[in-house]
Amino acid sequence: MKYQVDQNGFYGNYGGAFIPEALQPIIGQLQSDYLKIINQTDFQEEMQQLLRDYVGRPTPLYYAKNLSDKYNTKVYLKREDLCHTGAHKINNTIGQILLAKRLGKRKIVAETGAGQHGVATATVCALMGMECIVYMGALDIERQSPNVARMKMLGAEVRPARSGAQTLKEAVDEALLYWIENPDDTFYLIGSAVGPHPYPDMVSRFQSVISEEIKKQLNDIEGKETPDYVVACVGGGSNAVGAFYHFLEDESVKLVVAEGGGVSIEDLKTAATSFVGKDGILHGSKTLFMQDDTGEPLEAYSISAGLDYPGFGPLYSHMKEQNRAEFFAVMDDEAMQAGLDLCKQEGIIPAIESSHALAVLNKKQFKPSDVVVINLSGRGDKDLDNYRNYFGF
Ligand SMILES: *Cc1c(COP(=O)(O)O)cnc(C)c1O
Repeated sequence: MKYQVDQNGFYGNYGGAFIPEALQPIIGQLQSDYLKIINQTDFQEEMQQLLRDYVGRPTPLYYAKNLSDKYNTKVYLKREDLCHTGAHKINNTIGQILLAKRLGKRKIVAETGAGQHGVATATVCALMGMECIVYMGALDIERQSPNVARMKMLGAEVRPARSGAQTLKEAVDEALLYWIENPDDTFYLIGSAVGPHPYPDMVSRFQSVISEEIKKQLNDIEGKETPDYVVACVGGGSNAVGAFYHFLEDESVKLVVAEGGGVSIEDLKTAATSFVGKDGILHGSKTLFMQDDTGEPLEAYSISAGLDYPGFGPLYSHMKEQNRAEFFAVMDDEAMQAGLDLCKQEGIIPAIESSHALAVLNKKQFKPSDVVVINLSGRGDKDLDNYRNYFGF
């Protein structure tokens, strides 16, 4: 299994758990127990029931006829935008909160950048009656006020991180600090396929329901389980690994990654990690990320808040090294146009993150017989101001 994590938490040369001494005991416990717990029958039953009745799964696999006609290929959209809270992130927070409960924790700490993961976390904490503390950069709190209001309505405490640039990196630092100081009753709920082992693998497994459903749905519609291509956007990599998971070892299924190209790759006004990243340790694992000469992470830029991350999960560094996926840097303009096209062609307003995946249709030629599945990671309600400012509506 070339694309599964090994005993030590590595995907080939990438991954692992590079963590402070103080976190060794709790992460060590998680590493030894997580598979046992999530594979238990009662855990699986509770999770499946919530995914069905609370999240609204399975999400449809929609044959997009107008897009298919336009691009002369078969385009299917996996409708994660129809999940409760508007994106795939809830699949993972449901899984992790059930795990936290089984581990006897009563408090959840998380960090959030744009606020989407914070909202998904506050949602499941409300559902499970758990205390919820979300660290968020003070600058992000100003920029993302609707999500801050959502988290507060859901009962979470939003704590501003005031050091440095006052964005995601500082929020991660403070959330980790909180966890180090409160290891016994607190679970750290990470929102993407990043962080020290076992988080990338854990998040991948919780999101893998996406490709599990794609297989069944394709079998019903096309009479075979495997598509020719799966296309997804990558910030940290959680929606993409969910859509790729059950196809990773089958190289006849071609995988396509859309990164946030931003406005200029040359000037590093970008989030296209696979083009400008270098090896190093970011958020507890070895992976590619954008860094300066001293190895400090650089601030990433993308018009999409969810793709605005200087690295990606270790699986993607491994896939890049092994040539398992084709990587595209989708520029802001290309994504915004593709988002507007989907509105006009299919009557679906996508999240700007997802618009990056849609833009691949303009960058790559597919054959008429190809089955191309695009993971529509989220809906665009949260992005209306951004679309409106861009297009001047
Ligand atoms: C957060 C987010 C992303 C990016 O995160 P991944 O972990 O890479 O999936 C993509 N799309 C939407 C809608 C998001 O909210």
